[in-house]
Amino acid sequence: MNTTLRTDLTVGDICAGFEFSAAEGKGLYGWSGRLTIQPEYQRHYLYAERGGSRERAVVESVLRGYPIGLLYFNRVGDAYEVLDGQQRITSLGRFTKELFPVEDAQGNLHYFESLSAVQREKFLSTPLTIYICAGTEDEIKSWYKTINIAGLALNRQEISNAIYSGAFVTAAKKIFSNSTSPRLHLWRNYVRGDVKRQEILLTALEWVVKSSDDSAVETYMSAHRNDGDASELEAYFERVIDWAQKTFPRVHDDMCGLDWGRLYETYHEKIFDVAELAAQVDKLYADDAVTDKRGIFEYVLSGGELTKLLHVRYFEPSTIKTVYARQTREAELAGKSNCPMCAAGKGSNAKRIWKRDDMDADHVTAWSAGGETSAANCQMLCRHHNRLKGNA
Ligand SMILES: [Zn+2]
Repeated sequence: MNTTLRTDLTVGDICAGFEFSAAEGKGLYGWSGRLTIQPEYQRHYLYAERGGSRERAVVESVLRGYPIGLLYFNRVGDAYEVLDGQQRITSLGRFTKELFPVEDAQGNLHYFESLSAVQREKFLSTPLTIYICAGTEDEIKSWYKTINIAGLALNRQEISNAIYSGAFVTAAKKIFSNSTSPRLHLWRNYVRGDVKRQEILLTALEWVVKSSDDSAVETYMSAHRNDGDASELEAYFERVIDWAQKTFPRVHDDMCGLDWGRLYETYHEKIFDVAELAAQVDKLYADDAVTDKRGIFEYVLSGGELTKLLHVRYFEPSTIKTVYARQTREAELAGKSNCPMCAAGKGSNAKRIWKRDDMDADHVTAWSAGGETSAANCQMLCRHHNRLKGNA
């Protein structure tokens, strides 16, 4: 990859002909039309969020003569695209368009036109430090993966969108990165993440490729790069959400962020009695021994096999102490091991008295079979036999 450092371009040069789209929330063009500020693959403009403190900071840095850091442009024929610096350039451009004021040392607010002529001139003539890159797609790709925007690192999906920019990414973003989509409200019940930062798009991709592996997602994006739409991705995502909604009609907060794509693939061919599932879910929510409520949904889908997902609460230390003392006293009187399973065997441990730390508490009647987490249903087993018995 070939890079050229340019220090001759000023804030005024880059802001010349600056266009900001309020509807799309992004800077479009600068440098008198030569520069595309936000190519499709870039993130939305974020610096105006949280009260705009970040966009003000960029402008105030320039006014005070502080550096705002390196900018990277990619040369495409005779035109240029911002690779890194979109947020900063948009801040500068928005300021020249009177879209926000900055504060001076005395706390007075100034829009661009209300600065003194000297200050305006100083602002516009401030030189910027810009690397112009030109290279093959692979070179740009490997380089792009290594850069970070100060304070706002690109996440994985933003980088992938940059690398595989094209018709598919444009179409997929219209579906999954659209904060005004009427479907978003429903999706939010199942999918976590920031729409603007492409996190829902990443989930959709992980589901359709049935993997959360980076390379699987990238392979898919690469294969579909020039597709005119993202209909397969959209249809699969909708199918998963639809199945989740039909299987568990009542929404619980704990459903959000589960791997519904995997659950759909594993269980969608099973026939469920939806009312029965709902009753089981309610019962498990009411059970204090279930410490991981997020595990409830897959547990009931599995037909009660995956007990470990629920992280069923251990016995209280006081219960363990009482049961250990009782069991050990009885074992000593009988001349047998205090692990009932060792005692039942003929091995060298048949008469062994285990220390409390070498034993684990076990549900006599398994919790999954309705056994309580109480002293009456507790027995101490040696580690080996507890593991052998398996379920809680
Ligand atoms: Zn044992």
